[in-house]
Amino acid sequence: MAVVGGGIGGLAAALALSRAGHDVRVFEQARAVSEVGAGIQLAPNATRVLRDLGVLAEIERVAVRPEVFEFRRWDDGRLLSSTPLGAAIEQTYGAPYLHVHRADLVRVLAGAFPAERVAVGRRCVGAVRRPDGAEVRFADGSGTAADVVVGADGIHSAVRASLFGARAARFTGYVAYRGLVPAQRVAGLGLGRRSTVDLGPGAHLVHYFVAAGRLLNVVCVLEESSWTREAWTDPGDPAELRAAFTGWHPTVRGVVEALDHPLKWALFDREPLPEWGAGAVTLVGDACHPMLPYAAQGAGQAVEDAAALAACLTGASAADVPAALARYAELRLPRTTRVQGMSRDNGTRFHLPDGPDQLARDEVMAAAFGLSPDIDWLYGHPVPASSSGGREGARRG
Ligand SMILES: Cc1cc2nc3c(=O)[nH]c(=O)nc-3n(C[C@H](O)[C@H](O)[C@H](O)COP(=O)(O)OP(=O)(O)OC[C@H]3O[C@@H](n4cnc5c(N)ncnc54)[C@H](O)[C@@H]3O)c2cc1C
Repeated sequence: MAVVGGGIGGLAAALALSRAGHDVRVFEQARAVSEVGAGIQLAPNATRVLRDLGVLAEIERVAVRPEVFEFRRWDDGRLLSSTPLGAAIEQTYGAPYLHVHRADLVRVLAGAFPAERVAVGRRCVGAVRRPDGAEVRFADGSGTAADVVVGADGIHSAVRASLFGARAARFTGYVAYRGLVPAQRVAGLGLGRRSTVDLGPGAHLVHYFVAAGRLLNVVCVLEESSWTREAWTDPGDPAELRAAFTGWHPTVRGVVEALDHPLKWALFDREPLPEWGAGAVTLVGDACHPMLPYAAQGAGQAVEDAAALAACLTGASAADVPAALARYAELRLPRTTRVQGMSRDNGTRFHLPDGPDQLARDEVMAAAFGLSPDIDWLYGHPVPASSSGGREGARRG
């Protein structure tokens, strides 16, 4: 089997498929498997799968377990809602909520998969169906055949484009300034082990510790129509960022002040796809359901995809592959479509100007203190039964 893309989704898929007994190769365009310098939140729906894949203990060694998830108001820092995490969430959902540095997560995932099965510097330009499977085509003109091709190549997926045609992703009008701040620089702010989201008119700010507490991950989201670049190497202007948070409460200003080298990144998404593949070609992660980060679920959904894909392919013969992949998409599409919608709606809710709609939102948030029904649906999702149980299954290349 060939997985195109060595990000969180591709590595999780490669791991789940190889744990289920398949012979898997990963093709990554970059010169090394790595991630941007930023944090990621992993909710129990994702950590449950990672535990099933045998990598959770190692991730926990470099993660932070937050005690609470809180929303606060922009001008006075008043608490709008608070959800207990820590032991409470683990007890409820049987898996922890974690904050992780992305590079740590990718290192652990890649470390659990045979290095010689990962080819770097291989840019895929598409996948073509063949009677006995599919072929991945590369920019250097070469190709490789596989019985299953999994496109895990992100929002601008070449595999997706070869299946359904190339269409540009939608610029959402949001821009993220992002970076990591050494914990000592914010020691005076009393931040604690929390996931905090400060909500204000036209902007929000997320911060939490990663890397075993050594770094604070900061994401500031603004509405800006003129910046549409998506490169994690583009510097943002710290003065511009500070100006955008003028008048916000002192903790927010302290966090923004400490972020002296923010990177700037335009946020894109896409409408849900009606289907995820054809024949022996399928997709996982942002390649099939890119979403705004406002439910902190993009990678979590990619990890869920990985487990569902492995479960659907368990015991499938070559002739069964198209039906198994169709079942996988059928299983996953309604859930990821709902999460895409939740993420987009959160953008509108988070950025409401002060007024009647904001007051109504705050009332709902206050009433939802604790674990809301949406969270139950999101975090309580079970790992598909055979995601790691097919190790006896036939080995196929
Ligand atoms: C600001 C921000 C905050 C976020 N916070 C969270 C969070 O807290 N929790 C969460 O769950 N999610 C979060 N997300 C979403 C999450 O980052 C993504 O959903 C996740 O990284 C998707 O993983 P992926 O592997 O599908 O795609 P990607 O991470 O995009 O990986 C794709 C991989 O494929 C490679 N590739 C691309 N094209 C090709 C090609 N043609 N040939 C070969 N290789 C190729 C790339 O180099 C890359 O390695 C956030 C996103 C943003 C922008």
